[in-house]
Amino acid sequence: MLAMIIASSLMMAASMAIVGWGRRRDGLGHWAAALMVNAIGHLLIMLRGLAPDILSVVLGNVLLACVFVGMIAAIYQFQGRPAPWLLLLAAPVMVAVFVSMFMDNFPARAGFVGLVIGLQAIWALAATLERRHATVGRGQWLLVAGLALEALVLGGRSVLTVALPDSATSILQGSVLQTVTFMATFSVVLVSSVGFVFMSRDRSDESNRIMAALDPLTGVANRRSLISALDRDVSRAIRTHQPIALMMVDIDHFKHVNDRYGHPAGDEVLCSVVSVLRQRVRAQDLVGRYGGEEFMVLLPDTDLVGAEQLARELCKAVEESRCLAQGAGPEGVEVTVSIGVFGGHLESGDSWDMLIAAADRALYEAKNNGRNRVEVATSLRRPGAPLAGQDAL
Ligand code: GH3
Ligand code: MG
Ligand code: MG
Repeated sequence: MLAMIIASSLMMAASMAIVGWGRRRDGLGHWAAALMVNAIGHLLIMLRGLAPDILSVVLGNVLLACVFVGMIAAIYQFQGRPAPWLLLLAAPVMVAVFVSMFMDNFPARAGFVGLVIGLQAIWALAATLERRHATVGRGQWLLVAGLALEALVLGGRSVLTVALPDSATSILQGSVLQTVTFMATFSVVLVSSVGFVFMSRDRSDESNRIMAALDPLTGVANRRSLISALDRDVSRAIRTHQPIALMMVDIDHFKHVNDRYGHPAGDEVLCSVVSVLRQRVRAQDLVGRYGGEEFMVLLPDTDLVGAEQLARELCKAVEESRCLAQGAGPEGVEVTVSIGVFGGHLESGDSWDMLIAAADRALYEAKNNGRNRVEVATSLRRPGAPLAGQDAL
């Protein structure tokens, strides 16, 4: 059993060191070090009788108490908070003192070490649970399960060794208690280490998912996530018979901004316009960057009247805003936007691209009619339907 713990700890430590190389914020390095210490600690315990007691008994137990020091430090590092090293290191120091004082009293020693490690497991458990809402994925629950098992078994072992001192006289003596303890330690090493690795994988997946959905410059939804949200909302609007509206917002003469102030200033203006748009829409609306200096505002459950009114407010708000940008002075850059709006009820068979086409047509009109204005499209061009103006032909 001890050999299995040693082998699995070493394998896990090596795997985590390889996986976690260069990923300091994930805490995998601390965790790998903890597993390495776990392997050496159990090796020393296995050498009981062969190696001097100071190594096998004192150092062995101190190293076992150091395992959770590394694991708790890893959890803190993963969570982005500094580890309380002094408090953490108090545990192995206490174990060193106690074990040295009770060299000849195995039940007292085992009870104390079990108690200290059990409390450390509870600490690790509390630290994990404290930040459970900020941690994504299910990996954390594997870790919690592993830690809870460790706390339970070691707490129980402590109580039993103290209550029934005759039940164990040496750590290497085969007993149910000893076997259960070692099996639990073995499972804990596996379950919590796998859980911890999954935690960092879940976090990477989540940040990749967010990065793939957002425009890196402005931080709003990118074209891909805009279209997928529009597609979803179009289906919902058809199903629920609720109206839906879509705005295409395009910055007027943006090329001049770039030409006059430079591309970096242009970037700042883009962010500034986005912030004006975002401040004025409702929580359920979605602002996104469709491309270049063109933005889309998706308004579920909104009819044309409401959308047109909001579009006029947005137009005015952008015109009145001062877009601060490098090289533009304290008065900022004056920008205006043209907005094309589609709003209304949909029919079965309508699709997201029809809404974009309608809003785009209205935007084209707004540009043609002088810019810094709003134009609306009241209907979609459905396949087979006559084009506007053809009805009389
Ligand atoms: P209009 O009023 O007709 O819309 O004129 P416009 O100049 O805004 O439109 P045009 O399509 O001619 O030019 C768009 C410009 O937007 C050209 C392009 O260099 C600039 N642009 C696109 N993406 C970015 C970006 O990410 N950053 C900056 N700074 N400029 C961008
Ligand atoms: Mg433009
Ligand atoms: Mg454009």
